[in-house]
Amino acid sequence: MHSLHVDLGQRSYPIHIGTGILADPALFAPALSTGPVAIITDSNVAPLYLEALHKTLRKLEKDVLTITLSAGEASKSLANIQEITGRLLSAGYGRDCTLCALGGGVVGDITGFAAAVYQRGVACIQVPTTLLAMVDSSVGGKTGVNHPLGKNMIGAFYQPRAVIADTDTLDSLPDREFRSGLAEVIKYGLINDQGFFSWLEDHMDAVLAREADALAKVIQYSCKDKADIVARDELEGGLRAILNLGHTFGHAIEATTGYGQYLHGEAVAIGIVMAADLSRRLDLIRESEQNRIYALIKATGLPTLAPAFPIADYLAFMRVDKKAEGGRVRFILLRGIGSAVITGDVPPAAIAQTLQAFM
Ligand code: NAD
Ligand code: ZN
Repeated sequence: MHSLHVDLGQRSYPIHIGTGILADPALFAPALSTGPVAIITDSNVAPLYLEALHKTLRKLEKDVLTITLSAGEASKSLANIQEITGRLLSAGYGRDCTLCALGGGVVGDITGFAAAVYQRGVACIQVPTTLLAMVDSSVGGKTGVNHPLGKNMIGAFYQPRAVIADTDTLDSLPDREFRSGLAEVIKYGLINDQGFFSWLEDHMDAVLAREADALAKVIQYSCKDKADIVARDELEGGLRAILNLGHTFGHAIEATTGYGQYLHGEAVAIGIVMAADLSRRLDLIRESEQNRIYALIKATGLPTLAPAFPIADYLAFMRVDKKAEGGRVRFILLRGIGSAVITGDVPPAAIAQTLQAFM
């Protein structure tokens, strides 16, 4: 097992990564409040891992309530916050309870938000079961639900007490979901960690084969990169925005295609390819660097082309994206592999050329 910390002073918390750790009560005990526990999960994950987590919590003599949501992004709704809080109230759960999120980013985001608002805040433990959730959504405290008018538009920054990532749970993860998570992994190398990017170039076959050592390294490095950035800018006052590399284009692709055609990581992969292209057009990176980025996304089996919609459609979505401030679309660009810049100063013609080049 490997453990690291998100360093936020009194609210610091551990991230534990390892095989079989879902069964280790000693990892859960320090993160639990004194009262009962509610496990929130989804309909795909429940038949696979719910019993194991239940058993671990029972060893700690905890009363456990289970709430199983339908699998899928549509469950990240205010209606389900009403449902979850209603179940907790009916069961008599007080401020001393703990919510455990067992699942992917959907379960993690809604559970974290439920924990933030239930009785003005109760303890939360993230138990991520997708690669995306292990390397990204479970770490850093961004929680929330979707509004019919926009994704993640209702939420809170609310840190968990612990993240417990049992890598055995990835055995059952469909290949497409696994590759999708790798887009965020590649992102960390690009924004922050040149050595990690090179390592990924050399070991992508082992990663795709889900070899235990390679997988452990991918998750550890990603969590460390994310934890470091979050520790320096918890509330996204500035630096943390670099985690959105590929996301300005990516969100526009998800929105333009009506969510569902592309998994989030797939849209981000195309977005990364586009951000690299835009960076090269603005002379921030060399063509050879752009080619390496493209090749790694390709080698991961992720898409590199966006569907051919009118450029104006993509641009319209970018302007409503939450990163557009003062009417200017903010981009995260690369200044070489391993280094990112945030800029609101990109000529619209260059953005259009990039979109055109990857449709
Ligand atoms: P998800 O939670 O929908 O999980 C993907 C699919 O895999 C689902 O069908 C799920 O039931 C299934 N699944 C989960 N674990 C499994 C397992 N071990 N074996 C088999 N199937 C399994 O999606 P996701 O990709 O994990 O997360 C996407 C969500 O995360 C989005 O809502 C996105 O907005 C959010 N997100 C949040 C942050 C953040 O910082 N909070 C960051 C990135 C993404
Ligand atoms: Zn993302």
